[in-house]
Amino acid sequence: MGHSHSTSGTQPNVASKVAIIGAGLSGLALSLALSLQGIESTIYESRDSPLNIGGAVMLSPNALKVLEALGVFSRIERRGYKFEYLDFRDTVGNLTERYEFGNQAKYGYTGLRVFRTVLIEELLHATQSHQHCHKIHLAFSAKFARVISDGHEGVTWELADGTRQTSTLLIGADGIHSTVRRYIYPDLETTFIGQAGITAAVPTEQLKLPADYYIPVTITSPVGAFVIAPQEPDGSRVLIGRQRRMPATDRAGWDEIHAHPERQIEFMRSDGDQFPEIVRNATSTIQPDSINIWPFFIVPKLDSWVSDKGNGRVIILGDAAHAIPPTAGQGINQAFEDVYMLALILGRTKDAYEDASKTTVPLESSLKFWQQYRQSRVDKVLDLNKQIDLRRLSAKDLEGPSSYGGGGPERREFDLDWLYRPDFAVVIDQFMSSVSA
Ligand SMILES: Cc1cc2nc3c(=O)[nH]c(=O)nc-3n(C[C@H](O)[C@H](O)[C@H](O)COP(=O)(O)OP(=O)(O)OC[C@H]3O[C@@H](n4cnc5c(N)ncnc54)[C@H](O)[C@@H]3O)c2cc1C
Repeated sequence: MGHSHSTSGTQPNVASKVAIIGAGLSGLALSLALSLQGIESTIYESRDSPLNIGGAVMLSPNALKVLEALGVFSRIERRGYKFEYLDFRDTVGNLTERYEFGNQAKYGYTGLRVFRTVLIEELLHATQSHQHCHKIHLAFSAKFARVISDGHEGVTWELADGTRQTSTLLIGADGIHSTVRRYIYPDLETTFIGQAGITAAVPTEQLKLPADYYIPVTITSPVGAFVIAPQEPDGSRVLIGRQRRMPATDRAGWDEIHAHPERQIEFMRSDGDQFPEIVRNATSTIQPDSINIWPFFIVPKLDSWVSDKGNGRVIILGDAAHAIPPTAGQGINQAFEDVYMLALILGRTKDAYEDASKTTVPLESSLKFWQQYRQSRVDKVLDLNKQIDLRRLSAKDLEGPSSYGGGGPERREFDLDWLYRPDFAVVIDQFMSSVSA
């Protein structure tokens, strides 16, 4: 599967083949976004099919706008559950806060909760559609191992089986434990923060919700929060979830934890007297195979999502570049933003190379702009996470070592316009005209 590549003067032409490592949500979406820009790509995925870690995810207007541009929105819309708020309630049922997750009139989209498998299926379907099939190639059971060199001829890199490839750009969409990232940060390790989200799926009727009880909801209590979020387009099932402390362990330890879902069911039921009846109903019957464990790993804030070695043609995005804690539900949504903006940048840069009458906008400065712009939004999401934690965590947790109290941020009204109303194409246009002015 060797790659050809073309050059334009001394600059590699970014319109030629791009290698994407990882067929997760970021990698699949990126191939579509590049195809729309006329850029051909090949995705290399180490597994024999895209990673599906189960459960449903929440998509907010900023990501839905991207998925609409990729032609996927109308297909997932009818397969997901629409909602507008995440409610916060106390143990006696009082509504303490409403956090907006979407609003048709204000942002053009409601929030959408959709199974990850549905999202993967629809992204994959789109890659094989007539519009994209000549521009997107998928290679499964193809594990990226390392970069060999990054010179004017392109990036040469190796698969685990020793096969070498050369591509114009190498983009790591290979998740939080990214191997591509090692080229940029050889010594960086992810850190397990000692917390995991434990979730299960149960029939909604089991909860015996009072009439007019809005879900999704987070019920806060002195022993932590309990989350209830609808699944299926008709909301007939719900995800239920709690967060728990867990000691760091090795792969065998995680296997052991996964092999005993009954321990997680026991945890879900623990301290039932501290929660309202809805929670006790929710945890009364849990099927062990519906248990999902999400250990929270973090990567430190990275100075660079683009290599500064060689020709600077190795890029990381999505979880590989910034693993965002789950609080505001923005992990996947921010990954879609990375992808879409990068494709716009590469598309505009390609135009500049292809049309000699246009002023050439260097790829380096465009990528730098991309990272700065994206990082500034990720930083604002991290700040939003803190604002949510100030409402969600118990007073005890807020006093802990990772405290936001005592000198931490003040509680503010939620401001979400910046998050849900971005116009990525305008931002890129403005940047392009500022550098070519
Ligand atoms: C249990 C669980 C539940 C979650 N729930 C939510 C949620 O509700 N909302 C939310 O926003 N986020 C959620 N997240 C986080 C979310 O899954 C990530 O933000 C998102 O998947 C990031 O997408 P990605 O494509 O960047 O990486 P990933 O989804 O991790 O995809 C990376 C892909 O790269 C492949 N790969 C890795 N290494 C190589 C290699 N060397 N060669 C080739 N391929 C490779 C992997 O097999 C995988 O397919 C959850 C995470 C977990 C674990």
